[in-house]
Amino acid sequence: MTTKRDYYEVLNVDKNATKEEIKNNYRKLALQYHPDRNKSAGAEEKFKEISEAYAVLSDEEKRKKYDRYGHLGAEEVFRGSESNFDEIFRDMGFGGIRDIFEQLFGGGFSSRNRGDPFGFGFNFGRTNRGEDTVIDLSLTLEEVISGKNETIEVPSLEKCSVCNGSGCYPGTKPKKCTSCNGVGQTKRVINENRFSTFVTVETCRTCRGMGEIIEKPCRNCKAAGKVSARKKIQIEIPPGIEDGMTLQLQGRGISYENEIPGDLFIRIHIKPHQKFERLENGNILYSLKLKYPELVLGTEIIIPTLYGSEKLKIPAGTQIDSIFRLRGKGIPIHGRHSKGDQIVNVKLDIPTKVSERQKWLIKELDDTKNI
Ligand SMILES: [Zn+2]
Ligand SMILES: [Zn+2]
Repeated sequence: MTTKRDYYEVLNVDKNATKEEIKNNYRKLALQYHPDRNKSAGAEEKFKEISEAYAVLSDEEKRKKYDRYGHLGAEEVFRGSESNFDEIFRDMGFGGIRDIFEQLFGGGFSSRNRGDPFGFGFNFGRTNRGEDTVIDLSLTLEEVISGKNETIEVPSLEKCSVCNGSGCYPGTKPKKCTSCNGVGQTKRVINENRFSTFVTVETCRTCRGMGEIIEKPCRNCKAAGKVSARKKIQIEIPPGIEDGMTLQLQGRGISYENEIPGDLFIRIHIKPHQKFERLENGNILYSLKLKYPELVLGTEIIIPTLYGSEKLKIPAGTQIDSIFRLRGKGIPIHGRHSKGDQIVNVKLDIPTKVSERQKWLIKELDDTKNI
């Protein structure tokens, strides 16, 4: 028979201690022995011991039972105590109870498909989560303006149709794992010393937590029971998105049956535009090439914008590199209700080939010395 130390003694409180006293003492001791802080031999065991004591004494029902009947079974101890610990751990700046107990009692808690076989009440099976998926999406500047609803294909998993998800060769069945008796986990009781005993839970090595062994695997899915597939999903790209941005769509990643799906990340690439260059703050740049007479004499010209053609008046005597601004003809600014401008930058269009007559005229012009 194993003997455990008295829980009151472990937490160094007396039998009539109030909830507050119990909590304070546990906090003090936990701070001292938390495995993230205290690396000395025995600290971890001590931490388990005080945590077990606290799990019981911080819960009125369990405390009553303990006072009457003594130590509870391992299953009883931690069941439903998650919230009592969480507050304290978070106060102390450590992770939640999930992190620490997984660390202490082994990854067995998160064994897939076997949430909480011993009824600890933590439901660690929730950590069962599908993979995240990253896909790349290229958009034109026009699509950036309007935003876009797009149907895309993303990787997915589906039940193997050959074995109907069992992973077994058709006509065969999985066998119950004899090492863990089908539970997927093995419980090990360690007698620390005369006074304390701990129960550790480990993933069964024989069946790797599945509780069953497939002797003759399905050839199609190689015993996995699932195969990769692709599924179509509808996504909405908001207007004004920028090159290099990543959209995170929660829960739209890979999922299979009861698993919590992973997230879908969409990396945005904006294709270069033939006419416009994207600047900051929703502005776009358009280079307008004009001929010498147009600059000197002025003109009216039709230019393209992302929203259709626009008439632009070029006053007489316009200098090269002058800037005209078409307000609101740029790109919607992501997260705001405004648009940038189209910036028109005037350039000079110099012909590379001229006729004899043109040469003569240009020389004539030059001879006036004023122009
Ligand atoms: Zn199969
Ligand atoms: Zn097993």
